[in-house]
Amino acid sequence: MPTLSKSRFVSGVQCEKKLYFDIFRKDLKPPLSAAQERLFSSGNTVGELAQKAFPNGKDATFEMNGDWSLGLRRTTDWIKEGMATIYEAAFSHSKVFAALDILHLTQQNERWAIEVKSSTEVKDYHITDASLQYWVMNKCGVVPDKFFILHINNAYVKQGAINPNELFTLSDITAQVKSKQAWVTAQLSYLHELLDTANEPAKEIGKHCHSPFACDYMHHCWMHIPQQSVFELFSPRGKDWELYESGITLLEEIPVDLALSHRQKLQVEGVKFNRSYIDKPAIKEFLSTFQFPLYFFDFETIFPGVPPIDGASPYQQTPFQYSLHILNSPNGELEHREFLANPADYSDASTTDPRRLLLEQLQKDIGSTGSIVAYNATFEIGVLKSLIPLFPEFENFVNDLSSRFVDLLIPFRNAWYYKPEMGKSASIKSVLPALAPEFGYDDLPIGNGGDASETFLAMINDTFTGNTEETRQYLLRYCERDTYGMVVLWRMLKEKTWL
Ligand code: SF4
Repeated sequence: MPTLSKSRFVSGVQCEKKLYFDIFRKDLKPPLSAAQERLFSSGNTVGELAQKAFPNGKDATFEMNGDWSLGLRRTTDWIKEGMATIYEAAFSHSKVFAALDILHLTQQNERWAIEVKSSTEVKDYHITDASLQYWVMNKCGVVPDKFFILHINNAYVKQGAINPNELFTLSDITAQVKSKQAWVTAQLSYLHELLDTANEPAKEIGKHCHSPFACDYMHHCWMHIPQQSVFELFSPRGKDWELYESGITLLEEIPVDLALSHRQKLQVEGVKFNRSYIDKPAIKEFLSTFQFPLYFFDFETIFPGVPPIDGASPYQQTPFQYSLHILNSPNGELEHREFLANPADYSDASTTDPRRLLLEQLQKDIGSTGSIVAYNATFEIGVLKSLIPLFPEFENFVNDLSSRFVDLLIPFRNAWYYKPEMGKSASIKSVLPALAPEFGYDDLPIGNGGDASETFLAMINDTFTGNTEETRQYLLRYCERDTYGMVVLWRMLKEKTWL
């Protein structure tokens, strides 16, 4: 019978078919995406820092061609020797194996079981995973007095070297894991029985395919769901599943008299009749609030769990780049300005803080009058305002900029203009190629914000392996495309409404 690890147990609790595939259909598992690999590597960094919060331990890591006996033996021996801290302490009982991130014996002789997580709070699936860990330890006779999740403290502000004792916070989940022990026993018996049969469970697709994680096997189980299905409905709020369960799979099958939001109705009519929609008076009124010169503006940010620079908190959006297109008059010449920080400046921000350099250049690039056009302006305003406590001398400048933003997302989010090609999204990545296919992102080596952010972060962390100068150009071209795209959209809206 296959052994159940913590990750397999969490898989099985999400969906028994997922567990079955994990074990018997490895061929179905897609390779790790670049984003998953980056997540994995950032999890390792967090794990290493967490060990520093409980220093001087010994690592019982079991990895030896799938043979866990060494890790198990080391753990048993070291516990017997009274070792205070063991990393990756390994336990096994009745075909269940689980390794604990940190096993710690306090000076008061309390045994603490600690699982490390990169999140800023305890999630339900952490309790699932920890409950199994407690179950195995209990069966092995090593009963934790306390069980903790050691997770990131989002109130931490980096000053100097990372202080692991402040970066992390301990959340006591002892009561929750103890209360789930009978449930773990029942789940284990169900999952073991299922694996014994080695038959693929007959499980239908459902909300569990996305919760707590988007399942790796959707490419297989969702094969029968065609394009333009009800699962592509804009902001469905459960309507997608109601429709699917009532036998309606395609957007075009949705009855015209079904109660839908304005945006959903446009989407369904778009699919049924290839119909576009434009509310010219609303767009005209919106565009009339724009004042020249127009500054089309976009930030790129990094937001790692371990703050990259002094003054930053975990997962805080820290800007490293902007693009700015400037139009002084309706038919004037388009000017372009841009900023891209030097990754080396993050290691010694005391003299050349890249955020200050960014603000200084922005002050030169943006004049004192005119509208600042952003796509989802709340983000840009939020990032700018987060810099005020760090650089109070820029407070008036930032507040002035913040009051001048206009948001190009509004006409699309409110569906004042809709084309079927936009599908369910009002993001610029959907709207721009739908309205101006020649200005998409497919031709760019870096074509989305996530990649831009991760690439720059790798440059800061010295884990970047490509051609630095070439990649800096890719980053610049990507951000420039966003602001140029806004210019294109603004012009298009203007023409459509004959302003
Ligand atoms: S896609 Fe859904 S049904 Fe298929 S294995 Fe994953 S969670 Fe289960």
